[in-house]
Amino acid sequence: MIDLHNHTPLCNHADGTPDEFIKKAIEKSIKIYGFADHAPMEFDYEYRMGFEDMDRYEEEIKKLKEKYKGKIEILLGYEVDFTPVVDKRVLERNVDYLIGSVHFLDNWGFDNPEFIKEWDKRDVDDVYREYFSKIEKMASSKLFDIVGHIDLVKVFGHKPKTDIKDLAKDALKAIKKSGMAIEINTAGLRKPVKELYPSNELLEMILNEGIDITFSSDAHSPEQVGYKLKETIEKLKNMGLNEAVYFKNREKHKIKI
Ligand code: ZN
Ligand code: FE
Ligand code: FE
Ligand code: ZN
Repeated sequence: MIDLHNHTPLCNHADGTPDEFIKKAIEKSIKIYGFADHAPMEFDYEYRMGFEDMDRYEEEIKKLKEKYKGKIEILLGYEVDFTPVVDKRVLERNVDYLIGSVHFLDNWGFDNPEFIKEWDKRDVDDVYREYFSKIEKMASSKLFDIVGHIDLVKVFGHKPKTDIKDLAKDALKAIKKSGMAIEINTAGLRKPVKELYPSNELLEMILNEGIDITFSSDAHSPEQVGYKLKETIEKLKNMGLNEAVYFKNREKHKIKI
């Protein structure tokens, strides 16, 4: 089992120590476990670590990597917001991988319950179009290794009138071309939409395109580590997937599932 997207309290909205996260991962028989905490940026300061925290974060994870050697493979990454200018200070870090995520359309944090009212002022299809065009640009930028929660835009259950396959098509083509992997992220099952990221419809397209797949629980507390991961991997196997990927030193590795 692989779980590559996990947070730490440094982002100000997660609980538990990294050590507790790892203990839980071992308990759940996860073999490859990665931290990808919210990277700093000059915006949305309250929900992420500061630039001055990056050394501390990386040192702590590297220490745990040594401590648990032989028991579980610990990897180090960041979840990075794809904004018009992605900060060099993050892109230059020496890590195993970067997850690229879109949580903002201009300055609107569309997945944050604090700003849910903004949805009422918007055309849902336009929001989806804008969202997937950002995902497409992110893939073309080639800055990241993994696409974070590819259809996060559905988080509160807003459904577009336009077929999702049409809305996401160009983004998926760009992802395939870029060589990025897509994470199957179980956090959506805990959110109002109550679905995996990606949805079944998108999953079919992703598998048809032959895009590489990895897995994540997007845990913000030790209890969420590996959340519904076992059944999710089973589901993907039943859909015909037999290998997953992970990244070490920014290099892609394949593993049988
Ligand atoms: Zn978070
Ligand atoms: Fe995220
Ligand atoms: Fe996350
Ligand atoms: Zn996330």
